[in-house]
Amino acid sequence: MRLILFGPPGVGKGTQAKILSDKLMVSHISTGDMLREAVAKGTDVGIKAKAILESGKLVPDQIMIEIIRDVLKSEKCKNGFILDGFPRTIPQAEGLSLLLNQLGLKIDHVICMEIDEKEILMRLGNRYICAKCGNIYNLDTNEIKNGAYCPTCGETLYQRDDDKPETILKRLKVYHDQTEPLKEYYRNLGLLRVINAQGSIQEVTNEILAVINHI
Ligand code: AMP
Repeated sequence: MRLILFGPPGVGKGTQAKILSDKLMVSHISTGDMLREAVAKGTDVGIKAKAILESGKLVPDQIMIEIIRDVLKSEKCKNGFILDGFPRTIPQAEGLSLLLNQLGLKIDHVICMEIDEKEILMRLGNRYICAKCGNIYNLDTNEIKNGAYCPTCGETLYQRDDDKPETILKRLKVYHDQTEPLKEYYRNLGLLRVINAQGSIQEVTNEILAVINHI
């Protein structure tokens, strides 16, 4: 199974990609996580990407396509993958198509997750992430207190730098301007499956599994 999870920041792509990658036994490829790791390690890409991530803008397409080329060719994607956060622009989608053609692979579904903008602002402002296992929590729905530890693995929870209110608004604008046109792009290719991402985590997972005919 090869999926793309697509939608605005805060819609729950990371949460769902983690659950689905376990259920479908395929790799979860989050370009955001890869970039944050590169920044933390201080690699060449990380040095170039640091200020861009903090500003909420997009890392240049060429860098992103190279990152994806390496990962899709690697052993970990042999049994399939879920792309979370890539592609984010039309040139990235075109680069991905080219790459998949070269590798003789096809995307099965592009899941477009939709949600109210008000809900996004609420979710991102309350989002905390485990530094070790990567689980994502919400201060409201998970009854987690600020400064708490991960209920799963006990590591400290942190808030992403780009989940601050000013940057959230910028990221939403970038999404509407540069990423939303991908909806039409994938609709024209017959791959788009739109789902309502407003429900509980379990409901959204079930909805995704239903549209990809997995239940
Ligand atoms: P995410 O964790 O998916 O919200 O990504 C966090 C940040 O990483 C984004 O706001 C961008 O700055 C950068 N980023 C992640 N994926 C991409 C991509 N496909 N193209 C450009 N920038 C990206």
